[in-house]
Amino acid sequence: ALTIGIVGLPNVGKSTLFNALTKNNVLAANYPFATIEPNVGVVNLPDERLKTLAEIFGSERILPASVSFVDIAGIVRGASEGEGLGNQFLANIREADAIAQVVRGFVDDDVVHVDGAVNPKNDLETINAELMLADLQTIEKALPRYEKEVKRKTLDPSVLEAATAAKDALERGELLSQTGLDLAPIRELGLLTAKPYIYVFNVDESVLTDASRKAELEALVAPAQAVFLDAKIESELIDLDPEDAAELLEATGQTESGLDQLARIGFATLGLQTYLTAGPKESRAWTIPQGAKAPQAAGVIHTDFEKGFIKAEVISFADLVETGSVVEARAKGKARLEGKDYVMQDGDVVEFRFNV
Ligand code: GDP
Repeated sequence: ALTIGIVGLPNVGKSTLFNALTKNNVLAANYPFATIEPNVGVVNLPDERLKTLAEIFGSERILPASVSFVDIAGIVRGASEGEGLGNQFLANIREADAIAQVVRGFVDDDVVHVDGAVNPKNDLETINAELMLADLQTIEKALPRYEKEVKRKTLDPSVLEAATAAKDALERGELLSQTGLDLAPIRELGLLTAKPYIYVFNVDESVLTDASRKAELEALVAPAQAVFLDAKIESELIDLDPEDAAELLEATGQTESGLDQLARIGFATLGLQTYLTAGPKESRAWTIPQGAKAPQAAGVIHTDFEKGFIKAEVISFADLVETGSVVEARAKGKARLEGKDYVMQDGDVVEFRFNV
């Protein structure tokens, strides 16, 4: 499964957030380097539609889609030079498909800030500089090899061109994901700033309700998406029953928990979407890449479904709710039989027809 790596300076609240993500008790101590080993936490993608489907079909259980997060140990200024956490950090972050960068916005005199003061803009610049430096080093190491191989005609020149263009962009201080360059020829390099990013601002309650402050912070990271949460509140929310959690959210001016936001935005940032199946046993969301066609979607349930794919019977969630049942949806012409070229849409409720 695709994973999102959580990174950030020490003491920004990564462990606290990760704790909430996994409901496990990861050490959340007040000193740098408290978290060393990468851990994985899986969170469910919130989807109210599953509840509705379960009612319509009388399903015994609901199985939502999920997103995996990997906690990657703290990064400090100079990390790419071997100070702080070097190679292990880089190896772990390289494996992540997207990055969630946690940035500290909360003020708490009891919690040491590695650079002495809370300043989200500086923190972003520190981390981005480290990631860009690491990418520059990777490219500079690869360039002599690429040059040699292109000369020998054992490598397509597009690889060398992409590497050179990426190097130039990094030297101008640009994150590769925001350059619009075609980096496919140098995918093997696993460049860190070429990955999709989400920025998680761990802020005080006062910021959660401050639209103009949030807009300022959003502007620092645009066009990447920003999530605002209070990691401490998130870790309280997970222990509450749904009603109390809803009350706490409302009291802090939020309509959706930070973890739900993170799961939703993370899922989209990974380029994923879901389709739905429903029956008396379960109502379930299945994860597919955005733009996947019907046979590929069927293959997520079982490889035999893809191999023997005949048709997909598709009813949109909205039509199903409106008609109230599959039988009614069919009667009203709302059930479509789609073939192998059908591109799956968000909210499709599907039943596959296949040969075994
Ligand atoms: P990490 O080093 O990035 O993993 O940071 P931790 O999660 O260990 O947090 C460092 C310290 O900051 C801990 O004492 C946390 O309790 C505290 N902390 C984390 N998030 C918040 C927050 O949103 N508000 C406040 N006031 N403290 C927080």
